[in-house]
Amino acid sequence: MVYDTEFDVVVIGGGHAGIEAALASVKLGVKIALITLDKEKIGVMPCNPSIGGIAKGIVVREIDAFDGEMPKAIDKVGLQYKMLNTRKGPAVRSPRAQADKEEYRKYMVNKTQNTENLTVIEGEATDIFLKENLNEVEGVEVDGEYKIKTKSVVITTGTFLDGLIHIGDKKFPAGRMDEKPANKLPQFYKRHGFPLVRFKTGTPARLDKNTINWSVLEEAPGDEIPPKFSFWTEPVGSYFFKKGQKDQVPCYITYTNEKTHEIIKNNLHRTALYGGAITGVGPRYCPSIEDKIVKFEGKPRHTVWLEPETRDGISIYPNGLSTSLPEEIQWEMYRSIKGLENVVLLKPAYAIEYDVVPPTELYPTLETKKIKGLFHAGNFNGTTGYEEAAGQGLIAGINAALRALGKELFYIRRDESYIGVMIDDLTTKGVIEPYRLFTSRSEYRLYLRQDNPILRLYKRAYDIGILSEEKYKLVKEIEKEINDWINYYKNEKIKIDDKTISVFSYLQRPEVNIETLKEKGIKTPEKDYVIEEVEINAKYEGYFEKERRLNEKMRHLESIKIPKDIDYSKIAGLTKEVVQKLEKARPITLGHAARLEGITPAAITAIMIYLKKIK
Ligand code: FAD
Repeated sequence: MVYDTEFDVVVIGGGHAGIEAALASVKLGVKIALITLDKEKIGVMPCNPSIGGIAKGIVVREIDAFDGEMPKAIDKVGLQYKMLNTRKGPAVRSPRAQADKEEYRKYMVNKTQNTENLTVIEGEATDIFLKENLNEVEGVEVDGEYKIKTKSVVITTGTFLDGLIHIGDKKFPAGRMDEKPANKLPQFYKRHGFPLVRFKTGTPARLDKNTINWSVLEEAPGDEIPPKFSFWTEPVGSYFFKKGQKDQVPCYITYTNEKTHEIIKNNLHRTALYGGAITGVGPRYCPSIEDKIVKFEGKPRHTVWLEPETRDGISIYPNGLSTSLPEEIQWEMYRSIKGLENVVLLKPAYAIEYDVVPPTELYPTLETKKIKGLFHAGNFNGTTGYEEAAGQGLIAGINAALRALGKELFYIRRDESYIGVMIDDLTTKGVIEPYRLFTSRSEYRLYLRQDNPILRLYKRAYDIGILSEEKYKLVKEIEKEINDWINYYKNEKIKIDDKTISVFSYLQRPEVNIETLKEKGIKTPEKDYVIEEVEINAKYEGYFEKERRLNEKMRHLESIKIPKDIDYSKIAGLTKEVVQKLEKARPITLGHAARLEGITPAAITAIMIYLKKIK
């Protein structure tokens, strides 16, 4: 094959997964082409104008530990920042921000188009070429003619492959509203025996700000001390902005009511979902309003957040009100809600169906099992959400670069990150509906908190060469400072109610914090982040220890690697069925194998004995 040009890595798709994939790859010293349908639409937010939320906010900070871009972008262009679940324990807290989606897009367009060794190519990736007689990537075809030679390809096509939009009983092909779908690439997958399944997602109408009666609605302001997502944005070395540093915009709250529910019920047969037009499976955790009315029959009202899409524009996003009702019924439905009696719809709500390749086709490195050098990330893997996409993009991008450089691939574990939890869930269990992250998906959630991603992951990021020496040193110093203070408080004694106890034990009392110690004349740390970590470590020490003990065995299994060329049929004590399952899933560690459906503890012991023998 004659090629027009050559890059080390080609990333297909300039969405949230593609951006992180391209920028992570480039940091590892390779030359990247980012092919996307529209250069000006890089980083578009087709649904909610927000970043973060439960578990998702933690993922964004994990991306930050690898010096990713999403956290920096949202710190720059956020309209409102909040820490969710502050009344609950530290394991379930998470930062969330409203984004100015136009500024977010501009930020990402600018970043991707001004990064050295990253070339943005506008066009449609129409085919992928393999090396002759080998299941290994060799190149990519753009617009049916231009050919790029490459060593690795990352596919992040979002909702575009065979995309089909539904508005009530109308349907038409599209990748997103007003954007054409990509219909050629599915042929490549069909030709190479990959299964393709249909998933769906939906988005609400956008409302004209000037037609809403704001005076009757509840105001929802941002936090006084807003949380940020990046450890590297000002003030560096903290997860919080300074008070007053951000000019925040409020959101507003309203509710659906009996009349709204009546309108929806009377027109259910006209929705794309219940009328039978959509066959794809939708996101259970981000359901349409008709889904909520059917599934939570009897619930008198559902909350709706009215969120600005930009600082100065007129478009409002009604969070909680996505629907596939016909447009004329949408007007009636939205206008039945308090404050929206005279609202004008700027754009109708719609649902979209698209092709997904089941993620069980992938190793936890996000490389396909069938084709070397081919990686998948984002919605194309059956997930939903910008953060989930970006987290996968980061890992796929790192591995695409490592593959191009001929180095060992990188694998992020579920006991060290939510990104690891997600990738492990996807690749071991697969998806039967769009996958979204929750803290309950993790057995390590006391450890995988929003306050410590940088401490959990900075060494891993540095070791693979993605975090700079300077940043590594800064975190190392901060980590030392935290540990020094903890040790100091463990050794330092204080007399309370005639009893002498360590300052650390005193700090474990619910009513005591670092401020209390200061009042008692005890030396205290100065940096906000060090204070936060010392306090959390004191308060939850017992719980952390319990969780650690419970998960010790799993961590051990996680550290035992299974060679890629292992012959399971040679292992004594494995049934034929177990051998087949292991051969299909090809787990990369014993921990990974243990989580597969139908793999018993006895089978794990048998593999462990075999691995020791062949060592
Ligand atoms: P995308 O952001 O979709 O990016 C895909 C990129 O690939 C685009 O830049 C496109 O131009 C490019 N592309 C595709 N095919 C090709 C090709 N062949 N060649 C070149 N470029 C190509 N998420 C939620 O969490 N909650 C929701 O309620 C929700 N609702 C949604 C509603 C709608 C209507 C849509 C469209 C999306 C919704 N999402 C929702 C999903 C959210 O948009 C995605 O999770 C996120 O954008 C996925 O990022 P991605 O990088 O995988 O793909």
